[in-house]
Amino acid sequence: MTDHPRSDAPPQGRCCRFLSGVLISLCLLTGFAGESANYDPLATFRSIFNEKRLSLTASYCRSHYGNASTELREPQMIVVHYTAFADLDESYRFFAPPRLDNQLRRDIAGGGAVNVSAHYLADRDGTILQMAPDNVICRHIIGFNRTAIGIENVGRTAADLTDAQATATADLISRLVARHPSIAYLIGHHEYRNTDLPHYRLFRDDDRSYRITPKVDPGPAFMARVRSLLRERHGIVLQD
Ligand SMILES: [Zn+2]
Repeated sequence: MTDHPRSDAPPQGRCCRFLSGVLISLCLLTGFAGESANYDPLATFRSIFNEKRLSLTASYCRSHYGNASTELREPQMIVVHYTAFADLDESYRFFAPPRLDNQLRRDIAGGGAVNVSAHYLADRDGTILQMAPDNVICRHIIGFNRTAIGIENVGRTAADLTDAQATATADLISRLVARHPSIAYLIGHHEYRNTDLPHYRLFRDDDRSYRITPKVDPGPAFMARVRSLLRERHGIVLQD
């Protein structure tokens, strides 16, 4: 409820909330934070979040999850994607604007004005860019954003994805699980609508008019590689 300052809050309380909001904004812009739990030590941080994006994200969260908080507290799942773009710069430029391109994304434009994004972007050579701290809600998967960390892999199709990306994604997942023990599920975006899988118990979307769009990224072959690397290199098995 900290997103809704009460009118009867003492002046001291309001001031602290204001300062804390400023500090959060500074952290989002610079990547500096007292709580390193939300920043990956091996990633380069280039934030796509600013005041505008936070405000649009709050509207999205209010209509889809019944709460305007933009905080992703105790994440429960990780979702792997590919970007459908050929290189890192093109992918980053797509995610960077705070507002969704309504012409390009007519399929989901009715769901809210905030642009799609993810927390991480894995380049073809396996280098990792972090675009948002782990504790901020990104729009990357209908029904689960409030509890899901997103990892995008640069590539136009499943065939573009490299061994270096599978290894980097598996290694990143192992670090995320170490930082956030609440994570219990790992899925590919293409698996998100499967009501038989265990992760589906987390689904929530209050906007009944919002269409659940079919997804093919990143595909079963890439997820099989990531899951097997995660098990072999780190001894980690997450539910799907
Ligand atoms: Zn996706």
